[in-house]
Amino acid sequence: MAVRNIRTLGDDILRKKSRVVKRIDKRIITILEDMAETMYSTGNGAGLAAPQVGLLKRLVVIDMGDGLMKLINPEILETEGTQKVTEGCLSVPGKWGKLERPRKVKVKALNEEGKEFIITGEGDLAKCLCHEIDHLNGILFIDRVTEYVK
Ligand code: ZN
Repeated sequence: MAVRNIRTLGDDILRKKSRVVKRIDKRIITILEDMAETMYSTGNGAGLAAPQVGLLKRLVVIDMGDGLMKLINPEILETEGTQKVTEGCLSVPGKWGKLERPRKVKVKALNEEGKEFIITGEGDLAKCLCHEIDHLNGILFIDRVTEYVK
C-alpha cells in the first residue's frame, strides 16, 4: 500500500468526469487500498474519490468513523429532503463553506467482488456520499457553496 499525492484546486483532473470501472482486477483493489491509506494519512478526511489522487475512475472510499467503505461505480438512485451542511475538501485545503445537500440518499455500488450493494445514508453520510460522487463528475463542493465559513 502507498500514500498517494492529493491533487488540489487548479489541477485539471479534478474537473474531469471519471470513467466507469469495467473490470475489478488487482490494480483496482490496490488503488482502493491506496486511497484508504491516503485518506487516513491526512488525519481529517472522511472520504476520498479517485480523481483526488489523479485517477479518472469511479472509485470512492468513505470512513465516517464506522469503518471503511469502498465503492466501485457508485450511483445515486434516490434522494430525499434537503439539509444545510458545512463542508471542506482535501483537494480544497483551508476552505469551508455552507451548502445544501439531500438529507437522505440511496446509493448503488459494487464491492471488490463485483457484487452490487445498496447504502442508504442520512445526515453526514448522505452529505459525504454526495460530495464524493460529485468528485466523479468533476464537481467540487465550492461549486455549490452559498456562504464561506473561512
Ligand atoms: Zn472532496
